Amino acid sequence: MKYILVTGGVLSGIGKGITSSSTGLLLQRAGYKVTAVKIDPYLNVDAGTMNPYEHGEVFVMTDGSEVDLDLGNYERFLSCNLTKEHNITTGKVFKNVIEKERRGDYLGQTVQIIPHVVREIVDGIQNAAKSAEADICMVELGGTVGDIESMPFMEAVRLLGRLEGKENVMVIHTTLVPVVGAVGEQKTKPTQHSVKELQGLGIRPDIIVGRSSTKLEEEIATKIAFFADIPRECVISAPDARSIYDVPMVFLDQKLPDLVEKRLGLTPKTPDLTKWEDFAERISNGKNGVEIALIGKYTDLKDSYISHEESLRYAGALLDCKVKIRWIEAPDLEDSGNTKSLEGVNGVLVPGGFGSRGSEGKIMSAKWARETNTPYLGVCFGFQLATVEFARNVLGLKDANSSELDSEGKHPVIDILPEQEGVKDMGATMRLGDHEVVISGGKAQELYNSNTIFERHRHRYEINPEYISQIEEKGMKYTGRDKSGRRMEILELENHPYFMASQFHPEFKSRPDNPSPLHFGLVKAALEHKKIN
Ligand code: GLN
Repeated sequence: MKYILVTGGVLSGIGKGITSSSTGLLLQRAGYKVTAVKIDPYLNVDAGTMNPYEHGEVFVMTDGSEVDLDLGNYERFLSCNLTKEHNITTGKVFKNVIEKERRGDYLGQTVQIIPHVVREIVDGIQNAAKSAEADICMVELGGTVGDIESMPFMEAVRLLGRLEGKENVMVIHTTLVPVVGAVGEQKTKPTQHSVKELQGLGIRPDIIVGRSSTKLEEEIATKIAFFADIPRECVISAPDARSIYDVPMVFLDQKLPDLVEKRLGLTPKTPDLTKWEDFAERISNGKNGVEIALIGKYTDLKDSYISHEESLRYAGALLDCKVKIRWIEAPDLEDSGNTKSLEGVNGVLVPGGFGSRGSEGKIMSAKWARETNTPYLGVCFGFQLATVEFARNVLGLKDANSSELDSEGKHPVIDILPEQEGVKDMGATMRLGDHEVVISGGKAQELYNSNTIFERHRHRYEINPEYISQIEEKGMKYTGRDKSGRRMEILELENHPYFMASQFHPEFKSRPDNPSPLHFGLVKAALEHKKIN
């Protein structure tokens, strides 16, 4: 087993995740079995209870774990399904250590950060790599070198090297090379400092990836190599790219796979990037264009809806179409009292969400899309609110609502899942992860080309079975249900070009060459809409 640790210096958010997933992709396309682990040095046990405004989207994996959005990047780049072992947080590590202590597993020892916590981290990394039966495990360390939170993880990097052998563990350090001054000079000092910090912890980077707006100048790359005491060719330039999907090619041009293979004693192999290059080309180009409104509550931080954004772009890449997103804050739409901000779009997407703030704005967009024959895709909350809108305005149940938003209402068309009643804890308690959905016709069947699918879930509420027959009679059909037939999973409107919604989250299984069928359907319908209007 070979481990590649990816650390970050100077600032967070400079592309450690993309560096790690691009390196992983190159090695995968060279024929190695690659997996990935993301380490998040926060005390939350998982990302499930975190506000998207702080960390972006909560990604849901097949096994139902609620994790950092970087795991979504790994699944998309490596076309794989990861499990909970692949996201290690400080909270999870401490929880395990304390549980072991309570059980008496430490046989009376004083339990400490070193060795016990550090050992728990190393065990976690090794277990994730082994259970994936990988040749190479990419390990991304969240945060920045020097943070108090990352200290035990840095120590774990050293221990992993000692246990697995130096020839099996290497470090890629991602750092920022800022461009300052009127002449736009690249500066190496922040990189020098962060490398020193790393060295002070007993870790020597093998490769440095320098993020800068432009390519690293030769003299700058040489200077970084000199200070870090590594060969010049081990300094990789990562300038701003057209899209994140171009980064693997940028690394390949600088022979990153050769450097890794040499360092880890692997047989040199040439990655085959033909298909990936074609995809990267298509995602950045596209003859046609459509505009889709995304109605959310955290639209200022685009990462809050990253899996939807990528799903729409993947669909566009297959349809030779660039998808422009019009970000609409649902509370603003609600406050304005009208739907002017939606005018001119070719499609509407209402993603998952919680709570009443902005919910009426989302209901207004579902109504607008239904009445103007504009393609609509609702996901989870967007599925539930489309039903609320239909019940209010078509069935005439004026005060229809979800009991999440109005617990006293006369018409709770969306109600709590029976198994959720009485659940008090917020963490990891929703209906989560893969569940089977049985499809019985409609556009859903055409798009999925199958009668049984498995999609990921994350919800506490569902369509109230008491209202199903009334709703269906008026033309909103449930073409996807769970195996028991009792739980509604997909709805579609008759006599509408594309009005689809799902209780599950199709965005989490979307892959570059295999976009979510429902997002694909939305973009396709948006192209038609544009032709007609
Ligand atoms: N708040 C809704 C529920 O809990 C929808 C959840 C979601 O959109 N992920 O059922």
